This record gives sequence, C-alpha cells and structure tokens, in this order.
Amino acid sequence: MMYAIGVDLGGTKTAAGVVSAAGEVLFTEAIPTLNRAGGGAILDTTAVLVSGLRERAAAEGMSIGRVGIGSAGVIDAGRGVVISATDAILGWAGTELTGGLAARLGLDPQAVRAVNDVHAHALGEAWAGAAAGRASALLVAFGTGVGGSFVLGGQPVLGHRFVGGHVGHFASPYAFHEGAPVPCVCGGAGHVEAIASGPAIRGTYLRLGGTADAPDARAVFALAGANDATAIKAVGIGAGAAGQAVGGLANILDPEVVVVSGGLSDAGAPWWRPMERALRAELLPALADIPVLPAKLGNAAAMIGAARLVLTSPS
Ligand SMILES: [Zn+2]
Repeated sequence: MMYAIGVDLGGTKTAAGVVSAAGEVLFTEAIPTLNRAGGGAILDTTAVLVSGLRERAAAEGMSIGRVGIGSAGVIDAGRGVVISATDAILGWAGTELTGGLAARLGLDPQAVRAVNDVHAHALGEAWAGAAAGRASALLVAFGTGVGGSFVLGGQPVLGHRFVGGHVGHFASPYAFHEGAPVPCVCGGAGHVEAIASGPAIRGTYLRLGGTADAPDARAVFALAGANDATAIKAVGIGAGAAGQAVGGLANILDPEVVVVSGGLSDAGAPWWRPMERALRAELLPALADIPVLPAKLGNAAAMIGAARLVLTSPS
C-alpha cells in the first residue's frame, strides 16, 4: 500500500495526516498556523510537523516521500506558489509553498504538490467521501466564507489563473437591504457570500432589528432554535440564498451529485431544509433528481484530498 502525507494549511490551524492509497487516515497531528510570522516561518513549522509524521510512519515500517498540501489562498498549482491570500495569513502571498517545503524536507520538488484548500476539500469528498465513485461533483462549502469546487474526472477544475471555485462572488437577489446591495468581503457588493456566509447571517439578523446578544452565526442559530422570529428569518434568508446559488451552479455545470459542506451545513435541518428547498426550486426540470448530499469527511476532507494530489501522480 502506498501512503502520503496530506496537509490542510488554514488561517488558524495546520493539520497533517498520513493517508493511505485507499483514502484512510492512519494518524494526524495539528499545530497553530503562525499567521502573523510570514511564509518562511510557516514553512519551517509545517516542515517540522510533516517530519514528525514521517518519523512516526517510519517507526511502523512506512516510508513516505510524498506530501500534498491544501492551503488557504489562491495557489498556483503548477508552480506551487501562493499567488494571493487574505490578511488571515500575513505575508503568505508570494511564498514558494511546494519548493520551500520540499527543500526543508529534503524531498524531490516533484513529490510535493499544492492546491487551494477548498479544492483539496472537494477532492477529498470526491475521492473518499460523499461523492466517491461519481464521475463529477460540485462541492460548495458555507462557513466563515463561501467557496466551492467542481471536480470532474477526479480532478478539481482550478481555472486558468487558479481562481476557479470562488462561488461566493456572483450576484444574489437575496443580497440587498433597503434597495442597496450588501457589501461583500471581496470589495464588491450584492454577492452570495455577503448574504449566505456565517458572518452574513449574523449581519442579516442585526439589519432586521435583532437586538439579542448574538456575537456570531452560532448565536443566531441558538436564538432561532429558541423561536426568535428575527433569527429564524435571518437563517432562512442565508439558507435560501445559499440554496439558490448552488441550484444555479448545478444548472450551469450539471454535476452527477452536489455536496454541501461547511459549518452552516453542520447546523443540520434548520439550515439544510430551507437551503435544499431553495436549491431545488432553482433547478431546471431535467436536473430534478440530482442528489444533494451532506459532506462525509468533516475536518479531514482537505487533508485527504491533499494527499490524493500526490497519491495519483507519478514519482
Ligand atoms: Zn464578493
């Protein structure tokens, strides 16, 4: 059996694990991401994390020379370089991710590959999760942000400039308040993410006049569960916007299955039911039977998908 190390490098946490060619996670470790310290420091600590896992694996008779990375930011998957990133990780843009990590680990640069973390997440679900065995899958994640990936024939469609999958940034008819488009974190306005993300649900609750102490979306969900009418409306608007957006994407892409993931989908029926209702209302008649599935791999999805990047490539 072949093994690889998959790394899920996020804004606050970096998790890594040993993954088999069958998609099983053998063991994992995690460290805080040094998100104020710059790319070099992050690569240093990530290399220590990966080395520890390689040693653990070696002690059990596994020699692992391949590392796949799913990273926050826009990643040039050809050169293994971070093209751009938000302030969640200061100094991340410009980092030579695969080359820098390979050099620190003494590995062949060809043995280390990287994609954006949402693409890794989708690849994990398409390979070993909710969309396993399917010819194509559209995965959309709703959490702090909104992201997605269309996986076709086992490969995430990255786009010509590696920006593909930014499914939170197109117009949503829900993203208006008193006739004006709601500002979006990307600098635009009226986008799906501006109304359907977790922070957006809290924003809607406040705009609708919600007065209870609600520091985040989780608090709004709790209020909705306690029959607060404003909170129920805010969750319904966010879920409806999410579902309509995914339905429209399904009309465009016609994937074999749709997988919905992220922190909001983890909230279960209060979010999922209005989301799926809006999604199905948006579908063209020929897509009426499309399966809409919750993700299966949880937090391990990006790690598993990252490992898949190097479990399929020739060494
Ligand atoms: Zn936007």
